[in-house]
Amino acid sequence: MKNSKALVVFSGGQDSTTCLFWALEKFKEVEVVTFNYNQRHSLEIDCAKNIANELGVKHHILDMALLNQLAPSALTREDIEVKDGEEGELPSSFVPGRNLVFLTFAGILASQIGAKHIVTGVCETDFSGYPDCRDIFVKSLNVTLNLSMDSQFVIHTPLMWINKAETWELADKLGALDFVREKTLTCYNGIIADGCGECPACKLRQNGLDEYLKIRKEF
Ligand code: ZN
Repeated sequence: MKNSKALVVFSGGQDSTTCLFWALEKFKEVEVVTFNYNQRHSLEIDCAKNIANELGVKHHILDMALLNQLAPSALTREDIEVKDGEEGELPSSFVPGRNLVFLTFAGILASQIGAKHIVTGVCETDFSGYPDCRDIFVKSLNVTLNLSMDSQFVIHTPLMWINKAETWELADKLGALDFVREKTLTCYNGIIADGCGECPACKLRQNGLDEYLKIRKEF
């Protein structure tokens, strides 16, 4: 796939940055897209910008304020606390339809820039229960995008079946472990790199890293 172009859905977090490194190795040309939906931390956009700059990839930032207006969640409102869902419930960070909208707009942008491949870091394994992160949803949307634009897009989800420790392992194999560790923002409290250590995103990220570093030492 060296002779083709990919668009990576990119938030500046651990997962999408790992996907960006994955895409850079796999495709000849790579561009990234970040969605601005007035997320709690505009720092997320700055962080994404810095990473794209440093890696020399073209960065598209699309305004998605409408999503904020339609779907208040812990990611878009200061007054909603980030917390895990009670049994059977989605966490307060769930934004209904977010990946549906993001991947659809990514498809439109991909068609504009002549990219056949769309890469997203969604994952079922460390799954917070978001229905639009499931493999079946991505496959379904892939078919819909192709039918809607009479295109042959391929949506790639390199993290779909791996856990956080394996995502760190993938970053390491791509020579990007330190980069991802030091320059990405996953924390719900807007603290770059190792984060606040307290929020669900930090805990997931840190537990995965600890697990991976332990395995790495043993070899
Ligand atoms: Zn945090």
